[in-house]
Amino acid sequence: MQDGELHGLAFCGETFSPRNVFISIEKGIITEIVESNRSITQWIAPAFFNAHTHIADTVAMDTPVMGHSLADLVASPNGLKHRILRTTHDDHLSTAMRETMQFMHATGTTAFAEFREGGTHGVRLLQQTITPGIRPIIFGRDGGEFLADGLGLSCAKHHVADLAAIERARQLGKRIAIHAGEAGSKDIEDAFALDPDFIIHATYFEECHIREAADRGIPLVICPRSNWILGGTNTSFRPPVRKMIDLGCTLWLGTDNVMFIAPDMFSECAFLTTVYNTSPEETLSMATGGFSLLGHRGIIEEGEPANLICLDPGYIKEWTQSPTLSLVSRIGSHFVQLVC
Ligand SMILES: [Zn+2]
Repeated sequence: MQDGELHGLAFCGETFSPRNVFISIEKGIITEIVESNRSITQWIAPAFFNAHTHIADTVAMDTPVMGHSLADLVASPNGLKHRILRTTHDDHLSTAMRETMQFMHATGTTAFAEFREGGTHGVRLLQQTITPGIRPIIFGRDGGEFLADGLGLSCAKHHVADLAAIERARQLGKRIAIHAGEAGSKDIEDAFALDPDFIIHATYFEECHIREAADRGIPLVICPRSNWILGGTNTSFRPPVRKMIDLGCTLWLGTDNVMFIAPDMFSECAFLTTVYNTSPEETLSMATGGFSLLGHRGIIEEGEPANLICLDPGYIKEWTQSPTLSLVSRIGSHFVQLVC
């Protein structure tokens, strides 16, 4: 929505406090939020930022993979997904990426950080697949980073020989993101040594790593369902989400490979809240925090972009004793009416 007014129970500010309000929007910016007494028919939540995806994997959606290791499936360059991507025609990849972006938008996501494989060609293909209402921030590799918003490294070990390329990307002002600590702790120190802008997974982080991320202000992107599905963890202590929060880390939420996990942030929020026992406010903060990559806060506040999800909460609005908890644990994407 570029201009207009919305009314409803809105989850406002950085505390996501539910308030009965009118929200005025001008040129896509929230200009005023005022209290209301009118009866509530809809809820208004901040839209989500999905902080880690691989959307081209859509072409291999739900391939049966029982018994395969993580490396067999997704390791670059010869894991199953990379073999599938290499043999898939561009038109097919492009259609798959567009349909996944449409799904993401319909389920409340308006921006996402995408690891795009396939070098410059792969990055161009996504850049040409423009989908209204949703903005990819693209992390390319193998030369693709120079066309993209940043460099997405699959693992520190694979990139030891590419230090010059990493330095060049940095000099060009590109952000650097890296997977680390997904299946073990061996790659974590090498990842920190590359001075990344953010780290993805951190499943096997120990206290020293958590303190380092907190002290250096390096955000960590947690992908809980991916970690469970791909065998990275089978305990709520990995990734050590509670310790990360308590020690002051910035945490963002991502859904990872579309091959295995639907990029539905309502599902990711419900899983995180259930398994890792995060508070609803912590969950929402993680699901919106990545908007800082676009220079804003991702919250419902005057002066912020009107990235909003309008929901019909149905009978839940009559019974809930905590709308914020219901939003992250009970409301699913089928309650979405409008994403703007
Ligand atoms: Zn990934």
